[in-house]
Amino acid sequence: MTYYFDNAATTKINTKVLEEMMPYLTEKYGNASSIYSLGRESRKAIDTARDKVAKALNAESKEIYFTNSGTESDNWALKGIAYANKEKGKHIITSNIEHHAILHTCKYLEKQGFEVTYLPVNENGIVNIEDLKNAIREDTILISVMFANNEIGTIQPIKEIGEIAKEKDIYFHTDAVQAVGNVEIDVKDLNIDLLSLSAHKLNGPKGIGVLYIKDGVKIDNLLHGGSQEKTRRPSTENVAGIVGLGMAIEIATENIPQKAEYLKSLRQKTIDGLLQIPDTILNGDPEKRLPGNVNVCFKYIEGESILLMLDQLGICASSGSACTSGSLEPSHVLLAIGRPHEIAHGSLRLSFSKDNTEEEVDFLLEKLPPIIERLRKMSPLYNSSK
Ligand SMILES: *Cc1c(COP(=O)(O)O)cnc(C)c1O
Repeated sequence: MTYYFDNAATTKINTKVLEEMMPYLTEKYGNASSIYSLGRESRKAIDTARDKVAKALNAESKEIYFTNSGTESDNWALKGIAYANKEKGKHIITSNIEHHAILHTCKYLEKQGFEVTYLPVNENGIVNIEDLKNAIREDTILISVMFANNEIGTIQPIKEIGEIAKEKDIYFHTDAVQAVGNVEIDVKDLNIDLLSLSAHKLNGPKGIGVLYIKDGVKIDNLLHGGSQEKTRRPSTENVAGIVGLGMAIEIATENIPQKAEYLKSLRQKTIDGLLQIPDTILNGDPEKRLPGNVNVCFKYIEGESILLMLDQLGICASSGSACTSGSLEPSHVLLAIGRPHEIAHGSLRLSFSKDNTEEEVDFLLEKLPPIIERLRKMSPLYNSSK
């Protein structure tokens, strides 16, 4: 039995999505650029998927560009805007709790002569609008703030940020990889110029993403090659992946409010249960957070040890983000919300999907407290504190 509570790391592919993809991995293998009907079938499937993505975001189909991942979309947005607009200015604003796909790209751009302001967040992990206003300069060309955080689930004031960016005539990009399918997103209403998303975070396949680029935005290519994606993102299209993403986003954006209600009930039950354990702190905002995200710190112990013991029971969870686990660096997000190093090390993230049940949460809440107790008994930190 597997108890999968790590949907922020990746999700299980939906059976309907896989069925929709299968023909494009088998008999419908035509190159979408070929003029015979086998190729035209692939082209048509891509067009249909593009329409579905556009509809899910309230964008135009011509504003949707397929990429290989959320990481690629983030890199393209940042580097593409930076290079295409460097005559106007070389200043970029982001937050200090972004995914590494944003933060490491910003570090790279700094080496190329761009300047980056990293906005701090409050103790709940939310960017302050006044800080954003104060950071804006004459030469600011881009604001990139994530829609929802992958570790602590915090949802940022995207509408306010979009309004400010529009008023100041600065491009606004948001990494919405965690938000799509969990929160309703209307790129027009929110004044979003660029948005990244990834299929494997919404019950689609791995290795396929989207960058939404509002019509008229000035952006350079990341890749150069053939004429696919209107020459802006060349590569022979991953037709099966694109078809899967189209189907996955259509399903994921149906009935978001009902799904969110259910996930919130699992979240609340879990938070209430975990906070019964002594010396446990909730990370992130109690309200403005993804419906399926729980993140806590257990003082005096290591998150990694908890994960290993949970794994023996078939429970999949995460400590910090998947990209940082295995390294000894504590999560930059937990440090940014003011958790000291030793407390940040004891973090546990649980991220639910609609396939999770209350019974699964009951199992977790039964098994976890004795694990924490056992680990604390072995912890020198704990013993010296009592
Ligand atoms: C997973 C994730 C990414 C990276 O997406 P990939 O498709 O795995 O490259 C980027 N940003 C956030 C917020 C994520 O959660």
